Amino acid sequence: MQLISDIQQASEQCRQWREDNETIAFVPTMGCLHAGHLGLVEKAMQSADRVVVSIFVNPLQFDDPADLSKYPKTLEEDLKKLGDYEVDLVFIPETETFYAEGEENVEKIDPGAIATILEGEKRPGHFAGVTTVVKRLFEIIQPTVAVFGEKDFQQVMVVSSLIREFGMNISLQAIPTFREPDGLAMSSRNTRLSPAERKQASEIYRQMKATREAILSGNTDFSELESIATGNLTQLGFDPEYVAIRQADTLLKPQNPADKLVILVAAKLGETRLIDNMRV
Ligand code: AMP
Repeated sequence: MQLISDIQQASEQCRQWREDNETIAFVPTMGCLHAGHLGLVEKAMQSADRVVVSIFVNPLQFDDPADLSKYPKTLEEDLKKLGDYEVDLVFIPETETFYAEGEENVEKIDPGAIATILEGEKRPGHFAGVTTVVKRLFEIIQPTVAVFGEKDFQQVMVVSSLIREFGMNISLQAIPTFREPDGLAMSSRNTRLSPAERKQASEIYRQMKATREAILSGNTDFSELESIATGNLTQLGFDPEYVAIRQADTLLKPQNPADKLVILVAAKLGETRLIDNMRV
């Protein structure tokens, strides 16, 4: 497992692999790795000859400076975990070289209309930060396959439209969410929950499940179902930002009974903002 911080060096190693007709699967992360990330790495191992994982806490995608400064950094443990997998390259760029022009001078990539709703609406600038970092990472690594988690459902759509928009020859794999035994979606931010909050946090999963069951049993009053789940979460001590039942392929409001649906939730628990989703 090579550790490379230098952009040229990472790019050169990947170019060499491509020249040798080896395929590359790429898993971008912000570190503080948990079993969900490692599940993505396993998928990557099955998808290509070479596996590249990046660890980079991208300042451009944080709309809240406090969230950025509190973001957990556990590089040593991350590398130890990755050492148990067949990872060929861990790319760990420095912010100063990755955004050599200075963070404030970076020309951001417009993520388009999908970024104006839900997470995009609640976290202005977040998805422009995502498209900007992902495009640069894709240009450096030029992977055959990029592996992302459905935990960040809207992010998968943003990346998919980025690939389409720029005509990149990358196949996008979206992996279902890995959960703790009580249903809580694994997340680096879970480490910030107090023991009491950690116990409470899985209520998001239970509320999504109840909403899903209501839909499956024929309830199509989606606004009412959203209000019920929001009310329940509030009563349970959350500060919900949204509970939204949307079309799974567009994230627009449902229109037809045949629409495939997804339930998306963002809620704060104490100081920690949690997001999750569930397909119906
Ligand atoms: P992050 O380090 O939070 O930027 O996440 C890196 C990648 O891991 C993203 O594609 C996430 O969607 C994915 N990911 C994070 N948590 C999970 C999870 N619980 N299950 C599946 N994928 C996840």
